[in-house]
Amino acid sequence: MSDTPNAVEATPPDPLADARAALTAPEQKRAGGSLVLLISLLLFAVTAGDGGLAHVVVVIGVILLHELGHLFGMWLFGYKDLRIFFIPFFGGAASGRKAGAAGWQQVIVLFLGPVPGVVVGGVLAVVNLAVQEPLLGDVAGTMFLINAFNLIPLSPLDGGRIFELALFRRHWLLDAAFSLLCAAGLAGLGVLGVRVLFFVAALQVMALPARIRFRRAVAELTRRVGPLPADPGALSDETISALRSEAERLHPGSGVAIVEARLRMVRALWEELAARPLGALGAVLALAAWSACVLVCLVGGIAHTVLGGAARDGRIIAMVDDESPDLAPAQAHYDAECRERSPDDVRHDIACRRLAASLHHRRGDDAAAQAELEPVAAIEIPELAVGLAAALEQLERLEANGTTPTEHRRAHLLRAAEVYDRFASEEEAAAARAAAAKLE
Ligand SMILES: [Zn+2]
Repeated sequence: MSDTPNAVEATPPDPLADARAALTAPEQKRAGGSLVLLISLLLFAVTAGDGGLAHVVVVIGVILLHELGHLFGMWLFGYKDLRIFFIPFFGGAASGRKAGAAGWQQVIVLFLGPVPGVVVGGVLAVVNLAVQEPLLGDVAGTMFLINAFNLIPLSPLDGGRIFELALFRRHWLLDAAFSLLCAAGLAGLGVLGVRVLFFVAALQVMALPARIRFRRAVAELTRRVGPLPADPGALSDETISALRSEAERLHPGSGVAIVEARLRMVRALWEELAARPLGALGAVLALAAWSACVLVCLVGGIAHTVLGGAARDGRIIAMVDDESPDLAPAQAHYDAECRERSPDDVRHDIACRRLAASLHHRRGDDAAAQAELEPVAAIEIPELAVGLAAALEQLERLEANGTTPTEHRRAHLLRAAEVYDRFASEEEAAAARAAAAKLE
């Protein structure tokens, strides 16, 4: 009995062995997750631009809360290879993988980013109306701003990905059109000031051909083999062979890198076909929830800005008429509310200038008071109209009470009349002169 090496016929090599291995291999654990987070966080902080250290910390905290929300959702639904990192100039991202994730799970993971921030922002905005703490106001405003931005329906922002899942994934042509529309929209936002979005838009356009090929391959496979089980062990040879030949069509060739890309494609195709798309009801609910989030963000953000700003400006103006000999409270108020000013917030700037002028005036330095008020006229005449109307109203009230306007108030009104004479319309100047005449 000879035992020559060739006597026993080996079982024929399995032609699907590589694809089978790629499908059943455990998720590759990418190393150094916390290091990536730390380095990206530092890069983000360094490039975060102006606004002060406190504001940079607020922005990082708001982004972290947003990404941790996504991460919590992924953890909840059993996603693997979870990680979170910052993207300099842009924001943050959370990633994880799960083959066969149901559409509703993917949508909930997307919503869990912006929703906590919108809710917390809303609560803080309401609290801030009572306590009026500038840092708290900044946190609430940043919560609304960053989460509203993420809800913009342009992929890869959360809002865009919700729209993809709800509507545009259903046909490769719809998907491609939406992707192109998103790139145009992102470039538009880039023009408006978020410069990094030009880059994102360019990447999106460059990735479009590959995206179309992938979506068409998914459509073709869906027609041939239908939706697939989430367990790769349950795939038939026929199915694996179909996945493999589709991957080969997308990545033809034989180089090491090409073969690796092909095997990754086998897995990506399976993951896509195993994912359960969102049903019609789910899509309607997702879009309704998205609309509600956007509405809360817009109404909350605008109300926060307008109410918070108006309340703050009102308190500043109230201090302008403070006539107690002690200047300390008004000065402290000025220091607290007027140190940080945005050139866009004209109302705030004018309120601060009026308080500064009032402080100068009470210290006897009328030249400094005039200098402080000079830009007010140039900044915004309509704002002065509001100021004049308030001054006239106050004058009428004082007359009704039988109180003589004090020297301070008289000077204030005369100054308004003078400014109107120089800068405002005929009609407004006449009103100002009449008001001034009442005091002569
Ligand atoms: Zn997000």
